[in-house]
Amino acid sequence: MTAGPRFPARLFRYTAVVSLLTFGILYAQEPAPTGSPVTPAPADPAIAGALQQVSPDNIKAIITKLVSFNNRSTLSSMDTDLKPGTGINAAADWIESEFKRYSDACGGCLEVKRDEFVEPGSTAPLSRITKPTKLTNVYAILRGTDPAQANRVVLVTGHYDSRNSDNFNTHDPAPGANDDASGTAVSIESARVLSKLKFPSTIIFLTVAGEEQGLNGSRHFAKLAKSEGWDLEAVLNNDIVGGDTTPGAVGADKSAVRVFSEGVPGPTTIEQLHQIQNIGSENDSPARELARAIVDISHTYFHPTSQRLSANTPAGQPHNMAMKMIPAFHPVMIFRRDRFGRGGDHTSFSNEGFAAVRFTEWLENFSHQHQTPRVENGIEYADDIKFDDFNYIANVARLNSAVLSTLAAAPGQPQKVAVLNPPYDTRTVLRWEKPAGFPAGAAFEVVYRDTTQPDWTNVISAGDVTTIAIPISKDNVIFGVRSVDTAGHRSAAVYPIPPPRTRPVPGTTPAPPPSTN
Ligand SMILES: [Zn+2]
Repeated sequence: MTAGPRFPARLFRYTAVVSLLTFGILYAQEPAPTGSPVTPAPADPAIAGALQQVSPDNIKAIITKLVSFNNRSTLSSMDTDLKPGTGINAAADWIESEFKRYSDACGGCLEVKRDEFVEPGSTAPLSRITKPTKLTNVYAILRGTDPAQANRVVLVTGHYDSRNSDNFNTHDPAPGANDDASGTAVSIESARVLSKLKFPSTIIFLTVAGEEQGLNGSRHFAKLAKSEGWDLEAVLNNDIVGGDTTPGAVGADKSAVRVFSEGVPGPTTIEQLHQIQNIGSENDSPARELARAIVDISHTYFHPTSQRLSANTPAGQPHNMAMKMIPAFHPVMIFRRDRFGRGGDHTSFSNEGFAAVRFTEWLENFSHQHQTPRVENGIEYADDIKFDDFNYIANVARLNSAVLSTLAAAPGQPQKVAVLNPPYDTRTVLRWEKPAGFPAGAAFEVVYRDTTQPDWTNVISAGDVTTIAIPISKDNVIFGVRSVDTAGHRSAAVYPIPPPRTRPVPGTTPAPPPSTN
């Protein structure tokens, strides 16, 4: 194709001016960087030690206690005829006391709080809260030790409310051992093991109510985070992570947990949607970069093992020396917001602009969710504790704890990450700003992958700089920039976008939406 006569001249003038004034010196001095394969970060001994403290027995004790409240329906908060020690208010009180117990054990290191509010209710058809109802979120804060970074927050959550077959039934059993005492136990157990450590930024261990009525508790908490200006970098929602164990069932994978991440952020405006289309960032939302960070961290702390095939050969029989690999417990990224057509508490945080993902077991069993306990035609319906696998939940808790502690220890994410050059330039020039409290010795890394790859494959160590020129076309690969400290703690990567312009530059304005002619 040929361009009009004025177009190349303008483009040349712009490129020449930008290159000479801004990057000429950099290009002249820096050798062209090349990438190396991404490898796991070194393990942090303190984090590895905390993961060893995660206890299946303690998780079992937490879930047993939660089930003992009989029915944790959010609507039971307004009941006056419940037996003592039952209902959601009793559950909230116990979670608060448990967080306080852990805090006492670490010299008061946790701030234990309640976020109480009243949902007014609605009589509209399909409303699941029909009268004013008190909701209580219970949470513990492990405050960051660096004042410059303490406003950075990573958060783990599960919903402690439960339900049975009838949304409005508050008196018959609703054990909710998997949905979602399992996720609640992940949050509580993470608090227990991580409260023994200190981090420069803040970790919040949250348990919410109202999930079953429409994500009401998490919505209130996400708005609190937004209104108070928290720099909430990561939300890990654990919902149905019990590793359902049903006799005779096939298809479960006890080595895998799904990590759901949305491709298009919750609050995207139509203008932002046009930019996502224009620069091809539909697979690089903050939630998806968080999912990739979770996979990266899992490679540091979970390793496959091998075992002799004939480990149990009877005495006197020949030994088979062949080995079998036992896969490490691992996250599997699922590139969608949640399970098909369904929802969860992470979306409340996504909708406020925060990076949020959902952990869920590999294969759900719907006979063991939202069911009033009963047997019909030989099938047992109940979200009963006997179907939970505490070793599986412990692995989910270890993965959550590894992610929370690594991100809380890592420097903040690079800020205002931008691609500087105009579209008609085969190099890639990236620029960013240091986050607050960037520690001495820390550095930045550029990661990249082919457009068809799900995860980062290559990395370039940029050092302690805030601009880099890379002789690889941004058309052909996807770039991200992340922070790393001297111990190897890595932040999640940030996808670079063109910087906002104060005046239009000829030949470089974003393309308008496609026309029909
Ligand atoms: Zn749930």
